[in-house]
Amino acid sequence: QSFEDAGLHPVMLENIKLARYRRPTPVQAYCLPAIFQGRDVVACAQTGSGKTGAFLIPTLSKLMGKAGKLCAKRPIFNNRTEYDPKVHGVCAEPLILIIAPTRELAIQIHQEALKFCYRSKLLPCVIYGGHPEDDQRNELRRGCDILISTPGRLCHFMLKPEVLSLARVRYTIIDEADEMLSEGFESELNKIMHQGDRNADSDHVFMMFSATFPKAARKLAFQHMANDYAFVR
Ligand code: AMP
Repeated sequence: QSFEDAGLHPVMLENIKLARYRRPTPVQAYCLPAIFQGRDVVACAQTGSGKTGAFLIPTLSKLMGKAGKLCAKRPIFNNRTEYDPKVHGVCAEPLILIIAPTRELAIQIHQEALKFCYRSKLLPCVIYGGHPEDDQRNELRRGCDILISTPGRLCHFMLKPEVLSLARVRYTIIDEADEMLSEGFESELNKIMHQGDRNADSDHVFMMFSATFPKAARKLAFQHMANDYAFVR
């Protein structure tokens, strides 16, 4: 399979060329059609397998076709102006939510997302713990279609509906699930995925990537994902 035959948006195909990806890695080749069929995906994938592209390429490409209609209202907001909800919109309403265990991985995914969003209207945004909350609140208010976050910081902002709403999320992606579960983030992941369950009537899709599948990871998939999820290994 080639990227050209996968039915990707022309802007995404251009961005793939700019990234110098010639052909999909195996995990990408399996995830592309599954996402185009609207299926949930559980993928057994290590770092270095191209897993970031496996979730970014198909999901961003799907949204590019609809970007005009779907994209968040662009708040014209920067640090020099006072935030005004009437002018700048109420809160960030991302369409794709990506959860990663560490700040380093979240930043790395954000950088990949910026590459693939080039010349599209989609705007990625990254937040993580251990960084001043005010900065990240301003970041979110600048507009956010793709939100990449560590689990704790996301749960923190989920309690602030004036900053963030997850009601429009169409894709929830859990990266390195086994890492997060072994760090004790099971209840956070449940909370985040439960939020996605409530968006079920808007064709919400879950993707979970993990190097290993301990019992806790299988439980998470069983509790939140559609029965016919695609298993990629
Ligand atoms: P990841 O497993 O997502 O951390 O990706 C590992 C590295 O492989 C990153 O530097 C990617 O930019 C690169 N990569 C991912 N997919 C492809 C591809 N289809 N062709 C060439 N390089 C790729």
